[in-house]
Amino acid sequence: MNRRDLLTGFLAGGAFTAANGYLWQKAADSFSPDTSNDPLVNAEPASDRETVFPLSEDTSLDSGALADGKIEDLLPESKLAPGAVPQVAKAEHYLDKVRNFESEFVDDIHLNELETRTMHSVLLRLKGVERSVGHGNYNLISFDRALKFAKRFKQVGAFTREELDFLEKIFFTEASAYGFLGDKVITELTAEINPSDTVKIPYSGHYVYRGEAENYYNKLKSDVGSIILTSGIRSNVKQMHLFLAKCVQSNGNLSKASRSLAPPGHSYHGIGDFDVGKIGWGSANFTDQFSESDEFKRMQDLGYVQIRYTADNRFGVRYEPWHIKVV
Ligand SMILES: [Zn+2]
Repeated sequence: MNRRDLLTGFLAGGAFTAANGYLWQKAADSFSPDTSNDPLVNAEPASDRETVFPLSEDTSLDSGALADGKIEDLLPESKLAPGAVPQVAKAEHYLDKVRNFESEFVDDIHLNELETRTMHSVLLRLKGVERSVGHGNYNLISFDRALKFAKRFKQVGAFTREELDFLEKIFFTEASAYGFLGDKVITELTAEINPSDTVKIPYSGHYVYRGEAENYYNKLKSDVGSIILTSGIRSNVKQMHLFLAKCVQSNGNLSKASRSLAPPGHSYHGIGDFDVGKIGWGSANFTDQFSESDEFKRMQDLGYVQIRYTADNRFGVRYEPWHIKVV
């Protein structure tokens, strides 16, 4: 089977470089990453390094990968692409994909091998930034600041031109090209979140926007009881991180990743939505199990709670009973 290359269709149109290239061009120039001596760019393909990201169901953003070494020591070798992609029948109807979001379909769009390698190095660098700024702050950080932090902390290191191009490509690629059908709600890659517009929810490590979202959360918490904010505001950086982590799990399958996580720029977490879970449930809150909880049933009975991604949503996304539609 021929795997479809994201670049093939996208760059052919020229929209990426013509319309959007200047944004990162500007950012990259101002940080002037010198890649001539960068081992990430110049390294020989390693033949026997361990894969840093074994495919697993673990969706936690463990940033411990940098604990004992630099990013270049942790890069996986170049043979990242799977030898064979499982053959799954073509979905004639998009709801088949929504309902079988963890399956692979023959018309899914994959990153190519080079892009997959860049994805790994970008994700490692983002993890380094997260460690540097802390998990809470990372929810709000802009790309401009993330780039500065990466450059400032030697162990993280400046993003290379190749990595910046990759980030830009992911952000500006038309997500519908790989099956995500939701709106783009943040169009600027370098969008900033003003901290004074946000409020941190105690014991959650997450933020919501002051005003409507804050009031909504407080009312919901008061009405339902034993729930907690499990994810609030997400900057473009945070959403990019989550999306790329999902892409790694999906072995570079962008379509599959986007069935369970909105691509950066497309997440309503950026403009007001938030996730809630049952206190003490941990990662089970992000599974269908949450819809069986008393807390979810209580939310439904309230009458005012709307779920962003329903079981038959038109966005190409899995059912997310935990994701509250605010805006
Ligand atoms: Zn959510």
